[in-house]
Amino acid sequence: MMEENKVYFVSLGPGQWDMMTVAAFNTLKKADCIFCPGTERKSRSAALLADAGIADNVRLYPLPMSKDRAMAYSAYDKVCEEAMSLYASGKNVAIVAEGDAGFYSSTLYMSVKLASEGVRTAQVAGVPAFIAAAAFAGIPVVTQEECLKVYPGTVTQELLQRSLDAGDVVVVMKMSQCAGELRQAISSMQDVEWHYFENVGTSEEFYTCNTAEILARDIPYFSLMIIKRKA
Ligand code: SAH
Repeated sequence: MMEENKVYFVSLGPGQWDMMTVAAFNTLKKADCIFCPGTERKSRSAALLADAGIADNVRLYPLPMSKDRAMAYSAYDKVCEEAMSLYASGKNVAIVAEGDAGFYSSTLYMSVKLASEGVRTAQVAGVPAFIAAAAFAGIPVVTQEECLKVYPGTVTQELLQRSLDAGDVVVVMKMSQCAGELRQAISSMQDVEWHYFENVGTSEEFYTCNTAEILARDIPYFSLMIIKRKA
């Protein structure tokens, strides 16, 4: 029986093409059209695909990065329209996301929308940036009885203190949104391990657990932290 066509939400992993799963690679290979956020001048996802030898069928769409969600959603609505018409003509469509598509990615807004229109969709898992970050530093994310708490750029020193007191390991994503609060916490909290990462899985990959070094960084968008109580 011939496999039915679908719209696939494909996770690309944190940055380096060889951290993409084989399932993601195979799905992209069979896609007739791959929607990728970015412009001709700059698209991290398209560059990653090019490194994987996937350059055909890539269609870039501009994704406004502002906190004004409405602009992103209108970009997504356009992609949905195009994806739907390709799907209706029997094509396989891929829509990519960095890291894992189900982990703080707004891409799946399109999945809900397309599914509600009766489109067959599927999601392909990927390595989230914080998992790749821990491997890069050679540290465990969590062990034994530890719990993990993830803050999407919304952490305060008080919340951080409470989580660490409860024995949680903390991951802070989108840390550029709470850089001031984190800098203050780093300067004043004792007995804490601060693991700081930028651009994991790319040629600009950076890691330090030295607090003076962290405080001197600019904190770009692609940065995150893993924070633990000192053993
Ligand atoms: N879906 C992604 C997360 C998207 S939210 C995932 O699974 O990892 C965007 C945030 O993820 C960024 O602000 C940053 O905190 C983090 N991030 C994504 N890619 C990263 C990378 N390569 N290096 C460091 N942080 C990254």
